[in-house]
Amino acid sequence: MERVINKYLNVKPSKNANTILKDRYLMKDGQGRYLEETWDDVSKRVARHVASAEVKYTKDVKEIQEIEKKYYNMIKSRIFLPNSPTIFNSGKAMPLELFKKEAKDMGFDDYKKIFDSKSKHNMLSACFVVPMDDSMDGIFEAVKQSAMIMKYGGGVGYDFSVLRPKGTSIAGTGGKSSGPISFMHVFNTSASTIEQGGARRAAQMAVMKYDHPDVLDFINSKKDNDGNSVLNYFNISINIDDVNNFKNKLKNDEEITLEHPESDKTAKLNAKEYLRKISENAWKSGDPGLLFLGKHNHYYAMGHETPVQATNPCGEEPLPPFGSCNLGSIDIAKLIDFVDIGNPKDRNLDIFEDIVYWASRFLDDVIDMNVYPLPQIDEISKNQRFIGLGIMGLADALYKKSLAYNSVEGRKFMAKVTASLAYFSHVASSKLAEKRGNFPDFKKSKYPKGFIPMPLLEDDFDEDIKLWNQKLRDHFLNTAIKYKRNVQTNTVAPTGSISNLADTSSGIEPNFMLAYIRYMTDKEGNRVPLPYINSILVDKMGDDLTEDLEAEIIEQGSLTNIKNVSDEYKKIFVTSMDISAEDHLLAQHVIQSYLDASCSKTINMKKEITVDEVYNIYEKALDLNIKGITIYRDGSLQTQVLEKNKDK
Ligand code: UDP
Repeated sequence: MERVINKYLNVKPSKNANTILKDRYLMKDGQGRYLEETWDDVSKRVARHVASAEVKYTKDVKEIQEIEKKYYNMIKSRIFLPNSPTIFNSGKAMPLELFKKEAKDMGFDDYKKIFDSKSKHNMLSACFVVPMDDSMDGIFEAVKQSAMIMKYGGGVGYDFSVLRPKGTSIAGTGGKSSGPISFMHVFNTSASTIEQGGARRAAQMAVMKYDHPDVLDFINSKKDNDGNSVLNYFNISINIDDVNNFKNKLKNDEEITLEHPESDKTAKLNAKEYLRKISENAWKSGDPGLLFLGKHNHYYAMGHETPVQATNPCGEEPLPPFGSCNLGSIDIAKLIDFVDIGNPKDRNLDIFEDIVYWASRFLDDVIDMNVYPLPQIDEISKNQRFIGLGIMGLADALYKKSLAYNSVEGRKFMAKVTASLAYFSHVASSKLAEKRGNFPDFKKSKYPKGFIPMPLLEDDFDEDIKLWNQKLRDHFLNTAIKYKRNVQTNTVAPTGSISNLADTSSGIEPNFMLAYIRYMTDKEGNRVPLPYINSILVDKMGDDLTEDLEAEIIEQGSLTNIKNVSDEYKKIFVTSMDISAEDHLLAQHVIQSYLDASCSKTINMKKEITVDEVYNIYEKALDLNIKGITIYRDGSLQTQVLEKNKDK
């Protein structure tokens, strides 16, 4: 681990990363004056805050100092980064002098002071699900609760299926219900007034079960969205909780019955027409996506006790009512220079194992340092101890290894990386349980019976996969029946901001473009251009990358239509729009087969695709080991974050 850390510890964040750092992450006082100047300051604050949780487990201050140093090294080198709320809110509203000391001068009492002075400002998680009752009280209580979460930088998901359909009688008033969609607008307005952690837009997910009588209104609720107008603080997803039943209805051309326990209203819809309607709208505006929460409950060790109800806004983390999860991501593009991640025979694999262990411990410590916005969230978060360790930099790692994202070899690499992540993080969680105790609901969970919380790929997918499968089966049928600190350990976040901080590609997505100019708006309202060209492309092309060619790549974003570039470069340096929707989906499938939670993945499609093609992708998704699907057709929203330079 030392060698990797040493290589990256003093690498300066790029201009792009520094702009984001200054804009969002450096701590400020109440008057907006900076209290921090550099990434080093931030790394120290976050490491110290989170390491202070160790006072719960040891009296040895030297040990805590060592752990703080490990956390600091991983963060400063940007090999591992926690989700934004942990970076925003660690150390917030705490005595500053405790964060100015050198680690070696920290006493046990100093760490204890940090531990004891936690307050509501120290909310560290990105993902929440807030339930609501089917009553005015219940709905507005949820509006208030989610406002508190979003204020500190968390994203919230809700299940609107619990609300009775539009037009249903209300016993108390004799009136008629205005229906779930009308209430979504209330949540949207509330979110629009909140700037999260003072640094970003609020984000929400609305879920509705596929057979709710208002589902067509739900499907249409964002139809006229251009990215800026309708329900723009919401992603929306239909929950097809029983995938097999839905597939049979499609196959047999049958009808789906729409019904709700609080209503006499029922309706029937042909399954194919229904999926086509969803496809049309998704073609137009990217919404709705599909979620398969029944599948998730099957693989969730507490699915029979506290079933998941919705996901966080970007879909990677399905959660039960009042569930929360804190995330962290390892930049595999940086590690791949030192260790062949996923190759069980690589003699440097312990580097990856080590980082996964310390990252898992960090996330487990975050739970103890977190101050949750509601007592109900505190309770379930501590009883189940969800953590979401994932990866970023996949696309850049593939470039470095000269593997195409849209190739069998590329997918084998993805599967092996994720399988090894799953294995090492579950081993870490069991090791932590031996030291610290199981998550309190462990006995009620499926683990003691020998339970594998992920689908796994077929053994014959790849030799190495067979080995990882064996290791995983062995772990879950032996160690995990006794020890598990966290109900779930893995998820892949979009890493929308932290991948920029880390100067790496986002999550598991292909690069959207090889070169572009990103525009940020600074505090004075000026548009600041941030030019970017993929550094691995620059390294690999060397002298082949002439000035003219560079200009052309910035113009095009991709190599596909550039004449004087060899096919070998074109094959490896693919971008999101260069590859087919199927290739996006297959990547999601192999990766998701090893995640106990879920992943953020967009099936990007070219502008000219048809509604039928969207329909076909949705149909294929129902057959794979995935827990949901989000598609996006190029150009369908006016507020796309990245566009080809020439379109500007
Ligand atoms: N999120 C949010 N608002 C945002 C971006 C993200 O609430 O503007 C939440 C949301 O739950 C999302 C999660 O943070 O699913 C992780 O997103 P991402 O990895 O992009 O966040 P980062 O840590 O990079 O800021």
